[in-house]
Amino acid sequence: MTYDDKNIFAKILRGEIPCKKIYEDEYVLSFYDINPQKKIHALVIPKGKFIDLDDFASKASEKEISGLIKGINTVAKKLKISSDTGKGYRALANINENGGQEVPHLHFHLFGGEKVGKMVE
Ligand code: AMP
Repeated sequence: MTYDDKNIFAKILRGEIPCKKIYEDEYVLSFYDINPQKKIHALVIPKGKFIDLDDFASKASEKEISGLIKGINTVAKKLKISSDTGKGYRALANINENGGQEVPHLHFHLFGGEKVGKMVE
């Protein structure tokens, strides 16, 4: 599978469509989900062109990998939902068809601000 440059997160990264930005650095962009499923529902995406977590694991550099993990933590701190700034959260990545992934650019959902509930419906 090849990366689709026309996916909605690629357009957000290029600034072609707006987002409610939470955080940005060299490796990640974070913004609020347009259709929040919990009180706080943020997305964290790598800036590189990666379809999903498996694509990322096989192609991303060590710096991109640590940048994404650290980016998730930075966003959680900023939103005051991290273990040290709040009461915790759930980080979730849907992967491909069986995972229910809709947008083919790797993203982590961060759910928090309240009890997130059952892990899988
Ligand atoms: P997934 O099913 O894991 O691919 O999740 C895709 C997520 O992207 C969904 O939760 C959507 O609500 C969210 N989404 C789609 N378009 C946008 C957008 N323009 N801005 C923010 N979030 C979006």
